[in-house]
Amino acid sequence: MSVIKVMSENLANKIAAGEVVEKCASVVKELVENSIDANASKIKINLIKGGLTEITVIDDGIGMDEVDAEMAFLRHATSKIYKDDDLFFINTLGFRGEALPSIASVSEVVLETCKNEVGTKVHIKGGNILEKTPSNGRIGTKITITNLFYNTPARLKYLKSEQTELANTTMFIEKLSLAKPEIAFTLTNNGKEIVKTSGSNNLLKTIHEIYGLQISSKMLEIHALNDDFEIKGYVCKPEILRTNRNHLITFINGRVVRNNEINRAINDAYYTYKPDGKYPVAVINIDTDPTLVDVNIHPTKQDVKISKMQSLYNLIYETIKDALYKSLLIPDAVSKEKVEEVKNSFFPLNDFKDIEGSQTTFDFGSTNKEEVVKNEEFKSLVLYPVGLCLGTYIVCENDEGIYLLDQHAAQERVNYENYLENLKKSEITITDLLIPITIEMNYSDFMSFKEHEKIFNDMGFVFEEFGINTIIIKSHPTWLKTGYEEESIRKIIDLIISLKGNFDAIKFRENVAITLACKMAIKANEHISMLEIEGLLKNLVKCDNPYNCPHGRPTIVKFSIYDLEKMFKRAMD
Ligand code: ZN
Ligand code: ZN
Repeated sequence: MSVIKVMSENLANKIAAGEVVEKCASVVKELVENSIDANASKIKINLIKGGLTEITVIDDGIGMDEVDAEMAFLRHATSKIYKDDDLFFINTLGFRGEALPSIASVSEVVLETCKNEVGTKVHIKGGNILEKTPSNGRIGTKITITNLFYNTPARLKYLKSEQTELANTTMFIEKLSLAKPEIAFTLTNNGKEIVKTSGSNNLLKTIHEIYGLQISSKMLEIHALNDDFEIKGYVCKPEILRTNRNHLITFINGRVVRNNEINRAINDAYYTYKPDGKYPVAVINIDTDPTLVDVNIHPTKQDVKISKMQSLYNLIYETIKDALYKSLLIPDAVSKEKVEEVKNSFFPLNDFKDIEGSQTTFDFGSTNKEEVVKNEEFKSLVLYPVGLCLGTYIVCENDEGIYLLDQHAAQERVNYENYLENLKKSEITITDLLIPITIEMNYSDFMSFKEHEKIFNDMGFVFEEFGINTIIIKSHPTWLKTGYEEESIRKIIDLIISLKGNFDAIKFRENVAITLACKMAIKANEHISMLEIEGLLKNLVKCDNPYNCPHGRPTIVKFSIYDLEKMFKRAMD
């Protein structure tokens, strides 16, 4: 018996053991994927008690004839033989043909289906057909599952609370809706609508239907390809970050997948645009040759392994970074959603333009061209400083509104870009220290330093060993801030000592720049002069990304004149 055959049988057995069905969400998943395979354009999922009491899936797909309807539930009748290829071709959604028998063997199922105007109703419990009758012809298929795991108490006790089961199913349906914007999904629980998408085949509109305007209006379109992959979708501006990774939604060839490397590529692209521990909202479809994708053997898992991952990583990373760079905007202090609500209550629709230009007009089909221009505008933006508040916030104005800047964050950004530029230079100018700086370390730190001393050397530091675990620094690169040489050097040595694993020059440079930028920036509660404010503004405007400090916090927020007028109800007059 060939190796492939053995593996296939193994796989088939696993499925036969019912591993496909673990929770309500996995039942929903199997049923819904069957609906998708049946070319449904509308799929409705009705749950009672999160699916614990009842799961119904109704679709308008092609349906089954009388024979198929019966066969669908009988394992021995499933003639599908797993070929080795099936594992690689994830274009077809699941392990179809095996799921229904698994579900039927541990629950009570009523199937009503109709194909070519012939309707069939089948009632099954524990895998045995109780009843099979003709039924009236309704296009598509309706499956109702009750008494899940009634005959497998061991598994029954693994079902979670209504809330947990519902949360799992909701998350799955949300992701699937985004993967299949051409299908209209409705999910209800106890008669209450939880998810509803229109099947418009417009991804941004679907994002709007799932996440609401506040998020969908802050998404940037991305589209790029290389020899192996094509990526398409939307990523959020850094102002609407989430606290978990659940909203990094990726599909490969239309199938929801989970892959840490892909998530890392998305996250890395936001480096310095967002704080650690915050994650973007991203919906990205990756199209590729299915042979580059290895689906995990376990059919319920969405994990995949990808060949040529580096190529995909680079494509995602570069594309998102570029999109962010081109279209970052000053976040509005007043959320657009609120403005939109207020506006709707005060003005007839066609007055929008006169009040505020096209700024808050939300257009599903828009590209981010407009924002590219705006970013260029920012670079020549003139901000007139008014003063400093609370020793922390710089107040500025211009004919568009009022701006608040966080002085520490703003200067941190200026410093960061300045340090980074210097660190990248291949030609280093160095200055001799009049009084050499002595740095004493403990033994283990000294050993770690010794291991990486070339890095320190390459940065332009001239030093010698001096006694036990001590170095003496004689020259340093000129870009160290005058008066803070020793502090800066100690910070850099600390970073060198803490280096672990493979040395990544780019990451190291960024770390040095971030650390020094923060150290050397004016702190909050430090009053700076008008002259210093002006200098800071001038430098900030020149930055590549003037909107965030290198930790990803905003440097500037805007209160537009319109926002202010709304706040004071002036715009009503
Ligand atoms: Zn800082
Ligand atoms: Zn910061």
